[in-house]
Amino acid sequence: MTTIDRQANPLSDLDEWEDFLQRRYPEPKAGDVVEGRAFRDYRAEARPSVKEFYRLNHRYQTLDFTRAKRREYLGLERRTMGIWEAMEYLNTLVDDSDPDTDLTQIEHLLQTAESIRADGGPRWMILTGLIHDLGKILCLWGEPQWAVVGDTFPLGCEWSETIVFPEFFADNPDSNVAEYQTANGISTEGAGLDQVMLSWGHDEYLYHVVRDYLPEEALYMIRYHSFYPAHREGAYRNLMNDKDMRLFKTAVNAFNPYDLYSKTPVKPDVAALRPFYEELIAEYFPAKLRW
Ligand code: FE
Ligand code: FE
Repeated sequence: MTTIDRQANPLSDLDEWEDFLQRRYPEPKAGDVVEGRAFRDYRAEARPSVKEFYRLNHRYQTLDFTRAKRREYLGLERRTMGIWEAMEYLNTLVDDSDPDTDLTQIEHLLQTAESIRADGGPRWMILTGLIHDLGKILCLWGEPQWAVVGDTFPLGCEWSETIVFPEFFADNPDSNVAEYQTANGISTEGAGLDQVMLSWGHDEYLYHVVRDYLPEEALYMIRYHSFYPAHREGAYRNLMNDKDMRLFKTAVNAFNPYDLYSKTPVKPDVAALRPFYEELIAEYFPAKLRW
């Protein structure tokens, strides 16, 4: 068991970030008219550990950093693993979560998939729910929490005020580069998100692992599920093209509630569900993938 560097990793576990998101974007109750925006005063509610996590994230996620991480990881030369094997590998993540009350990573994945399945979602979307967080294995390769999770945002252009704790960007070296501080920055109006560098994390990494095997809607769900400034706040429309607009509406927004609101205290029966999911995995993926 390795000890966790608390200074680089202020969260007691990755779920602390997701619990914070859930409080910032509470599940609308029947009858609520909600545009998906955050109304709650998240500043007052954020734990010091969560605030510190965002401080590090906003300070160190620079354009150069995300470029370097893409070069480091996107050759997919670390391991070859099957999907279920990757789920079990992710489950070896050691943090301070309480095994009696907190969900394991596999349990979160299964709850997301099962809630899509319960709503009669298509098979590829159930599978997307199952795998969407596998990119968090970056933590097992020594990446700090702020480089794996956290709401993502574009680099090389101005930071939207809708990003959580925008004031922390004052310490980001990119704030001194004039070219990066315009609405389109190094990109052009309507260029499309594929041309935009988002902050590095588990979304972008997993997208590259699975991009040859899943339909486009699934790939959007995976690649942009942490892009809260765009999918919940409506920011960065200037960088999107028509395809992005369409797929945020039909795919990314459709997926988000399953990710954010599917957590229940009832733990899924992993062994009982495994055969169904092994079959589903085999329908789309080879036995081994490059990671
Ligand atoms: Fe995620
Ligand atoms: Fe998730």
